[in-house]
Amino acid sequence: MFTTATNRPNLGLNDPTLTSTWSHRAWVASGCSTVLVSLAKAIMGAAEAHMWLEPILAGLLGYILADLATGFYHWGIDNYGSASTPIFGTQIEAFQGHHKWPSSITRRQFANNLHIPARAVTITVLPIHLACNDPTVHGFVAVWSGCILFSQQFHAWAHTPKSRLPPLVVALQDAGLAVSRAQHAAHHRPPYDNNYCKVSGVWNNFLEKQRAFEALEKMLFIKLGVRPRSWIALATNGPKRLKNPF
Ligand SMILES: [Zn+2]
Ligand SMILES: [Zn+2]
Repeated sequence: MFTTATNRPNLGLNDPTLTSTWSHRAWVASGCSTVLVSLAKAIMGAAEAHMWLEPILAGLLGYILADLATGFYHWGIDNYGSASTPIFGTQIEAFQGHHKWPSSITRRQFANNLHIPARAVTITVLPIHLACNDPTVHGFVAVWSGCILFSQQFHAWAHTPKSRLPPLVVALQDAGLAVSRAQHAAHHRPPYDNNYCKVSGVWNNFLEKQRAFEALEKMLFIKLGVRPRSWIALATNGPKRLKNPF
């Protein structure tokens, strides 16, 4: 999803944009290592202090908020900027490519799919290791960053036919613990303006009911005069619902 060019159709298994490089694998290894160090700090700190409830509750909070974080990030990347935007340009282009050719994510190799969130996790979590040993903080950080890192795997599973998924993954999706195929499929309809969350998807209905992203889009339009891509897609593809009041 992150490196597919938008100007060509899906290619086969040998497509170099779908295969993992050693650089991708190194970033995924470093991301997983930082997550595991946080997990170890949480467990060892909790054992030393005989304090398990707070780190476990912090971990649950991390799981719930990671879904929300992926939603806001996905919304921002889908709607604003362009291929030439600094830092995020490649991902913005790739997300648009994913809308055009959604099934290519199922042919993407593991590290190729996860290396971008793995970089973000490595860069943000390493300083926390140096600054903090609190088991509750690390309970949150370990689960939150682990879910962010693997959000692209949850995403790939949401695009994979049920018959090709391991039974455990199907059970997680059916239980609402991993974003379901049906829920994510709702995102893949023009104007691509809902169901942005892709860890558990637990926030998707709430955000849709509250029209949270619409409110943010209107606010940004009023303050900055910037129209999100979903408004443009809505104008192009017909009104799924009246969204842009301006
Ligand atoms: Zn999208
Ligand atoms: Zn998708």
